[in-house]
Amino acid sequence: MSKVISVSGLRKSYGSNKAVDGLDLEIEQGEIFALLGPNGAGKTTTVEILEGFRDRDSGEVRVLDFDPSTKGNAGQQWRDRIGIVLQSTNDAGDLTVYESVSHFATYYENPKDVREVIELVGLTEKSDALGRTLSGGQRRRLDVALGIIGNPELIFLDEPTTGFDPEARRAFWSLIRKLRDEGATILLTTHYLDEAEALADRVAVINRGKIIEVSTPDQLGGRATSLATVSWRDGAELREEKSANPTALVSQLAQQFGGEIPELNVRRASLEDIYLEMIGGTHE
Ligand code: ATP
Repeated sequence: MSKVISVSGLRKSYGSNKAVDGLDLEIEQGEIFALLGPNGAGKTTTVEILEGFRDRDSGEVRVLDFDPSTKGNAGQQWRDRIGIVLQSTNDAGDLTVYESVSHFATYYENPKDVREVIELVGLTEKSDALGRTLSGGQRRRLDVALGIIGNPELIFLDEPTTGFDPEARRAFWSLIRKLRDEGATILLTTHYLDEAEALADRVAVINRGKIIEVSTPDQLGGRATSLATVSWRDGAELREEKSANPTALVSQLAQQFGGEIPELNVRRASLEDIYLEMIGGTHE
């Protein structure tokens, strides 16, 4: 598989604040990759460096085989291969959805079909509505339409569903999956654990400018192999044991007690427990 993004030893400080502090990252073609971390972790700084909007202090960065820095050699042709959906929404309030998307299409050599893109983002019924009359979720989908009209190979989405209601988030997730299924590579930043879990093929947990772990969502923090905690009452004492085999332990206890085990409880760490432990206490 070819690498769409390849980063090693990336650093960026603002004064004495090390926003990105030696970051390594490899993203394969055709995957949805989530950069998951709390506020101030360095997600936006990283993504903006990859997009060519901020310069780095040091490190190697390749995005679609080019160095995106302003001192690098990436040009308009490279930029046309990338779709960007920023955190703040676009402000074309006085144009209709159709006008906005058609207008953006003229910037690109090989744009997608305007009506198809509007359909893909679920705004067909709003084609003739003015931007300023759209709801927050609809505006975000218009932003995505503008980000993908150029037919990009690589799409950056910075915290795409902040402020969405649950139904809008689910609709948005299925849109992102559709884009991946059409062949795009997607890098999204999020501070929602459930978003990374539902959507990403791989997740990188970032905190204080460093990647703590990269894995598939179901393996995050050793989740698949995490031990269960079995607790029960033994006379006056509350006992607790960690076990990879809680069923065996429980049946052994059942035999020992000759039936009901007093105050039996079997717990496994949730993904949220694991994530909070990973970023433990450093939340800004
Ligand atoms: P959020 O989830 O809140 O968007 P983030 O993970 O995207 O956070 P960044 O925006 O990359 O984090 O910020 C990382 C750190 O760098 C923060 O401490 C932030 O205050 C600082 N920072 C970001 N941009 C600038 C800037 N232009 N000037 C000075 N400091 C900055």
